[in-house]
Amino acid sequence: MSKEIVIPFIPGDGVGPEIMRATKLVVDAAVKSTTAGEASLRWEELLAGEAAYKSTGHWLPSETLAVIRERGVALKGPLTTPVGGGIRSLNVTIRQALDLYASVRPVRYFEGVPSPVKEPQKMKIVIFRENTEDVYKGVEWRQGSKEAAEVIEFLRSRMSVEIAPDSGIGIKPISETASKRLIRASVKYAIRKRLPSVTLVHKGNIMKFTEGAFRDWGYQLAKEEFADVVLTEVEMKASGISKPPSGKIVMNDRIADNMFQQILLRPDEYSVLATPNLNGDYLADACAAQIGGLGLAPGANIGDHTAVFEAVHGTAPKYAGKDLANPCSLMLSAALMLEHLGLDEAATNLTDAIGAALADGIMTQDLARLKGTRPYGTAEFARELLAQL
Ligand code: NAP
Repeated sequence: MSKEIVIPFIPGDGVGPEIMRATKLVVDAAVKSTTAGEASLRWEELLAGEAAYKSTGHWLPSETLAVIRERGVALKGPLTTPVGGGIRSLNVTIRQALDLYASVRPVRYFEGVPSPVKEPQKMKIVIFRENTEDVYKGVEWRQGSKEAAEVIEFLRSRMSVEIAPDSGIGIKPISETASKRLIRASVKYAIRKRLPSVTLVHKGNIMKFTEGAFRDWGYQLAKEEFADVVLTEVEMKASGISKPPSGKIVMNDRIADNMFQQILLRPDEYSVLATPNLNGDYLADACAAQIGGLGLAPGANIGDHTAVFEAVHGTAPKYAGKDLANPCSLMLSAALMLEHLGLDEAATNLTDAIGAALADGIMTQDLARLKGTRPYGTAEFARELLAQL
């Protein structure tokens, strides 16, 4: 009997519904063609964003979160950030409500895609970005507010720290627990995928007790939990080894500004990056730019019990309803989801089909315009993939 896997999905706003439609088609085909009918997907639509607000008066109904929590997985289109109404961002709310602490962003090049760098194929990096704290925790007070004045006065009177009275204030919490669970996830990933290194990216030379501590906790974790597999760069240098012995992973660290140089100059020397929230946000888009932009970058938000896979771009409102959007980011995110569900062959098939289409010059307008080739519509692109799958 065929195994049915239920996939909750949020179509999303703007271009969301059209890229989701295209994605579901190709995902179904990839599963069908690789499991010989042994497994099939049942898609379960969930409300969030504008569609939810129109029908329920809530941007993110609690039922939606409850279903994702129960199923442990979801595929999500981009959601508009409501202006006003006290909601910072639906995306951030989903990540925090479900404790999806790792934002995982694999970045790789597909042959034939226009890129601003000379050797885009050297980029094959997976970024693990801490998703729950740092300055993104949302603890901040407006310049001139009572709270900002109180914090400034507390720092002056109790800590002997002078802050300009006309400052806005933001807090940057980085904890041992959140840092270690993120770095643990990145090391486990490197082990599972047989990748050679994990690099801790931080700005610890300046922010010693937050980002510096992130680095220190990373090395501590490697000693405490992965001593049999992880070797540090310092240990390697001390023993005069230039390459890690087979089966071992090197842990090293890079200061964030240097890391931005490294991704341009020597991207092939890095494989997994583990980083606090803000650095990871910047780095993920900078890496994606090198392989052709956000349209080709998949994303996953992963916790201990739940994972939500999503396109990393926004709702691209100017293309909404025009059949022009690039569905690859969502399709590649769906491929990550298939892998997460243990459907590795379907994931590989889907990724390969996308790669083959791009190599043949089959691409949507965002990429085709850079090459001067004929643009494919969103649905047409999906049909080309279906033919290959
Ligand atoms: P955006 O929606 O990512 O769009 C910015 C530009 O990126 C578009 O104008 C377009 O560039 C290009 N683009 C993005 N996705 C594309 C696709 N699939 N195909 C082709 N081109 C694509 O960013 P935004 O305009 O700043 O944000 C719009 C809304 O999305 C906001 O409400 C924002 O809060 C929300 N947002 C949601 C998420 C999420 O759900 N995870 C993430 C980011 C933003 P060109 O104009 O150059 O063609």
